[in-house]
Amino acid sequence: MNAAIYFIDVTNRDGVQTSRILLPKLAKTMINLYLDEMGVFQSEIGFPTLKHEVNYINANLELEKAGAFRRIRLEGWCRAIVEDVEHTFRNCPDIRHLNLSVSTSDIMIAGKYQGKKTWDDILSSMCNAVRLARELGAETIGINAEDGSRTDTARLIEFAEAGREAGADRIRYCDTLGADDPITIYERIRELGRAAQIPIEMHCHNDLGMAEAVSLAGAQGAIESGVDCYVNTTINGYGERCGNCDLVSTILALRFSQGLKRKMQCDDHIDLAKSWKIAKYASYAFGLPIPINQPGVGANAFAHESGIHADGALKDRRNYELYDPEDVGRGEPELIETGRVITTGEYGGIKGFRHVYDRLGIHFHDDKEARSILDLVQYANLHTQKPLTDDELRLIASYPEIVRKIIAVHT
Ligand SMILES: [Zn+2]
Repeated sequence: MNAAIYFIDVTNRDGVQTSRILLPKLAKTMINLYLDEMGVFQSEIGFPTLKHEVNYINANLELEKAGAFRRIRLEGWCRAIVEDVEHTFRNCPDIRHLNLSVSTSDIMIAGKYQGKKTWDDILSSMCNAVRLARELGAETIGINAEDGSRTDTARLIEFAEAGREAGADRIRYCDTLGADDPITIYERIRELGRAAQIPIEMHCHNDLGMAEAVSLAGAQGAIESGVDCYVNTTINGYGERCGNCDLVSTILALRFSQGLKRKMQCDDHIDLAKSWKIAKYASYAFGLPIPINQPGVGANAFAHESGIHADGALKDRRNYELYDPEDVGRGEPELIETGRVITTGEYGGIKGFRHVYDRLGIHFHDDKEARSILDLVQYANLHTQKPLTDDELRLIASYPEIVRKIIAVHT
């Protein structure tokens, strides 16, 4: 059996921190739920040291306790310094999974810290942060080597070994600037894995258009070195500058590429058929269209027009399609209401509200309950500034007190 590749999605951290795009906290919550439905191993849900994330993070941890998630781990991101770890547990005492980040390349150490921190300072700060996180209750800890791809390999190994000895579970190799290429990263990760013997996360950016390729080449290096590998992704590739490694494309590559599918195996919890749903929702919530040529979920992924292609596809789809629409959850017609429609939201009243929820098969015990959910629906719509989706309405009705906390934002 080939070693499995696990997914850690960072849409709710790297995706949302991106310039000019953002998500309301209710949408971040939906993303966590959809990632769980898709079988993703872990979601990096945000910044526990950031005031406006605290209610949302605590509420998602409550959702976890209430059984809203099946398997996904909810993990927070902060700097690898003891102050941030203290701050994290003060704000979010129930958080159990953390990623602790620090820059490891000479260029960033010199450029960011301006002579105030040496390499030894970086190592000891990271180790102290890891030990403290363990003491305060962290069950899993990743150490994040920011700009790992421009960090000397011997130093990366030293960083990983020091972290492992301090109690870290994984090292995140960050190709922060998207500078890596598949062959170089494969060789470096194999060397890192062999030397440090700690599971490795691939975190790659798309500045050279190779985020998925370098992530998977690195993953192959990790697997060959005998350590587990976790690939960081974002939905639709949203992320800093030119984006991150795209979730759906990476799963497709593991399942359908000629070589990789024989060498590595996708975590078998992954349900690729949820791709369409999650990509569409993220596009809607971020307000960004899915490019027409996006792998798997773009409008043209299964479209054929030119004479030779259409003829070939009609005779046998395998002439021109590597995978089927159904593999990524497409193929069903989508109903669009073109006539009379009743919606509920910011300025809605009780009659319209009841009509919408009746259609979803959700009924309320009494008027008091219905009116309190309507209040929440109004606030939730004010919060998202977009028509609420059926799943958002379901979440509001299922966990009203938790949703109240999510949309309150201000503590
Ligand atoms: Zn990043």
